[in-house]
Amino acid sequence: PLVLGIETSCDETGIGIVRGTRLLSNTIASSMEEHARYGGVVPEVAARAHLEAMGPALEAALAEASVRPDELDAIAVTSGPGLAGALMVGVGAAKAFAVALDKPLYAVNHLVGHVGADVLDASGGPGHPVELPTIALLVSGGHTSLLHVRDLTSDVELLGETIDDAAGEAFDKVARILGLPYPGGPQIDRAASTGDPTAIRFPRGLSLPKDLAKHRYDFSFSGLKTAVARWVEQKTDAGEEVPVADVAASFREAVVDVLVTKAVNACLDRGVPRLLLGGGVVANARLREVAAERCAAAGIALRIPALSLCTDNGAMIAALAAQLIMAGHEPSSLDFGADSTLPVTEIQVR
Ligand code: ATP
Ligand code: MG
Ligand code: FE
Repeated sequence: PLVLGIETSCDETGIGIVRGTRLLSNTIASSMEEHARYGGVVPEVAARAHLEAMGPALEAALAEASVRPDELDAIAVTSGPGLAGALMVGVGAAKAFAVALDKPLYAVNHLVGHVGADVLDASGGPGHPVELPTIALLVSGGHTSLLHVRDLTSDVELLGETIDDAAGEAFDKVARILGLPYPGGPQIDRAASTGDPTAIRFPRGLSLPKDLAKHRYDFSFSGLKTAVARWVEQKTDAGEEVPVADVAASFREAVVDVLVTKAVNACLDRGVPRLLLGGGVVANARLREVAAERCAAAGIALRIPALSLCTDNGAMIAALAAQLIMAGHEPSSLDFGADSTLPVTEIQVR
């Protein structure tokens, strides 16, 4: 099926078009620069930016794919989870588009969309179904989730999620502590490349399942962030210079260690020899390195989609809807809304 997907859960206005598992276009307009001076995504600013970007992004995606709106078989949209105001812009646009064109509409889950991205080939090749079952680790500015995916369209289990900050958020906050600009992930990554990851032993949050955690594989990053803040404060108070590269490298090592340890343990515990990564933090050089090393050692096949498909985008939403259509799922009714806390088990909102 020829599907157009609309994604507005955070700061990317993503419009993508796919034919089955083949990627035809993937237009992204980001409001990230507008959030930079606030040090994080401002919901109201993101929603306004989506409203402005929506029309041009739709036109650009259709033009790039050489598709006329009447040729589409279906429209897909992210219904949640994400920022409520931002989601509403996408949901409103998708409903208007679907009604005007008289096309079926699929309201889908953003997190499962990240997994669905794996069916696509970023360079426009034929693509292929997601190899299942798989464990999926999704890490971005807004989420840190570990999933057990048995069937992309009907069986996704939440194994763990962050109980406080998301992994990307931790990078952004620690960058701010170190005086580095937003977004902090790439800045920390760069600073860390010349630092010593063993210089400071920062805590690994929730290494052992604790009462605090709801799920066996929950994550926590706010304690780590506080530990970095305290360490930096003590240095500054003592009148010493803060070794930014060493702090960045040691912090990055702590985050990556926790993420990969839990993901690999989940694979082993569940007897699933596959790990799929998704989300903007996948850009992290050390995360890729450590995941590759430890997966190889444990006999786990590691899949990392192209970065353009890992960060938020509309093509992954279209790709998930195409899979739903091919599996025989009916379209959503037009009365669904934006659900900022949509659980991952709800793959499609009906
Ligand atoms: P969502 O949570 O809805 O997916 P988002 O916009 O917060 O949306 P992304 O755009 O996928 O997430 O990713 C942005 C996040 O990834 C930011 O927190 C950023 O700091 C982080 N990030 C980007 N590059 C790197 C990197 N090299 N290392 C670590 N973190 C990174
Ligand atoms: Mg983003
Ligand atoms: Fe996302």
